[in-house]
Amino acid sequence: ISSVELTQLYLDRIAKLNPELNAYVTLNPETSLTQAREADARFAAGTAEALTGIPIAQKDIFCAKGWLTTCGSKMLHNFVSPYDAHVISQFNNAGAINLGKTNMDEFAMGSSNETSHYGSVKNPWDTSRVPGGSSGGTAAAVAARLCAAATGTDTGGSIRQPAALCGISGLKPTYGTVSRYGMIAFASSLDQAGPMGRSAEDLALLLNSMVGFDERDSTSLKRDKEDYSRDLGKPLNGLRIGLPKEFFAEGLGNDVAQAVDAAITEYKKLGATVVDISLPNTRLSIPVYYVLAPAEASSNLSRFDGVRYGYRAPEYTDLADMYEKSRAQGFGAEVKRRIMIGTYVLSHGYYDAYYLQAQKIRRLIAQDFTEAFKLCDVIMGPTSPSTAFKLGEKGDDPVQMYLSDIYTIAVNLAGLPGMSIPCGFGDNAMPVGLQIIGNYFDEARMLNVAHQYQ
Ligand code: GLN
Repeated sequence: ISSVELTQLYLDRIAKLNPELNAYVTLNPETSLTQAREADARFAAGTAEALTGIPIAQKDIFCAKGWLTTCGSKMLHNFVSPYDAHVISQFNNAGAINLGKTNMDEFAMGSSNETSHYGSVKNPWDTSRVPGGSSGGTAAAVAARLCAAATGTDTGGSIRQPAALCGISGLKPTYGTVSRYGMIAFASSLDQAGPMGRSAEDLALLLNSMVGFDERDSTSLKRDKEDYSRDLGKPLNGLRIGLPKEFFAEGLGNDVAQAVDAAITEYKKLGATVVDISLPNTRLSIPVYYVLAPAEASSNLSRFDGVRYGYRAPEYTDLADMYEKSRAQGFGAEVKRRIMIGTYVLSHGYYDAYYLQAQKIRRLIAQDFTEAFKLCDVIMGPTSPSTAFKLGEKGDDPVQMYLSDIYTIAVNLAGLPGMSIPCGFGDNAMPVGLQIIGNYFDEARMLNVAHQYQ
């Protein structure tokens, strides 16, 4: 099959299913097909690489030249990016096809995709349920076979949680592995891009193309190039799996616990051993995250002022009024809530009590993992406490919504790699995700651990 044929197949399927699922917010069929023709020419010339000609969906947080890039917000409803994010140019260089931009929670703030200005995404397994978030459009697109694979970003769980809720695989790499250049910033010390797809093998191929040092991101790490598929197929004999007792405590759904237990039993059959571990400071990860992430967001989002690009209020009296009205009308409720929390915790009188204190606990959370990895090679547990919930179910209770990320957020605070793979179904027949957390830069091993189960 040629890339043009493959791209057209996906575009036809998107035309049929996207009106209901709302997974994509922007499509440019002509641009995608032009890339596909170029890819076919590379095949003819013998210069194709692993991803050449493969149609990949991009979360709408990545700036892509000539593409509308909205980040799920009215604030960027008219923003056509003049440049490519590092991730996008890496895929372009590999000859991959940009199939379209996927829906997401506004500025990646959310766990259900319901904060998007462009409407909720529906979970393809049951369209009365959420796909998770913030990379909900990507997760739904992969699950409904509306792309071969796709990108997401994860600040507190936004790759892993929607992957779990939609029954697909997703990987958040070690912080600093994938350049954040051209990825619209939410909380810069936590944000990390990663691949989402049908299998660990696909994730390895995507990750190979996404990584690489980039001097335009000051936290990008200079490391030797590695092949993330190199360990696929290695036996798991002797693998030590750490099970944190805090991940199997109150708040975890019985059906999710059962599916995760069954997966761990499989791993034992594959030769792994299980060690009980403890991550005592994990219980503080949600409060710490909801100080640090809004603090960074309030600073990052100050650039949206109606002056240079994006939404500008149609009527205003003077400059201050223009800022005020543009931001009041351009941002949604959750984004405003985060900006208010962020400016509060950073304000002079409260900085020491909140921001500084949260930074200290962040270090303790990271140290818990350092201790744990002395006893085990990978950590396993649930990705999310429940399977996909109903649209609207947690809409007016932000704290309930924040609890969806109880098992994922500590990983971002520590900067570690984490992934989610499907491991069965819950009572409502919705998919359950198994979370695999690795030590820094241990992605190749994690991908094989996932691959052996799949
Ligand atoms: N759900 C979390 C939040 O709302 C995490 C989102 C993310 O990882 N981008 O902030």
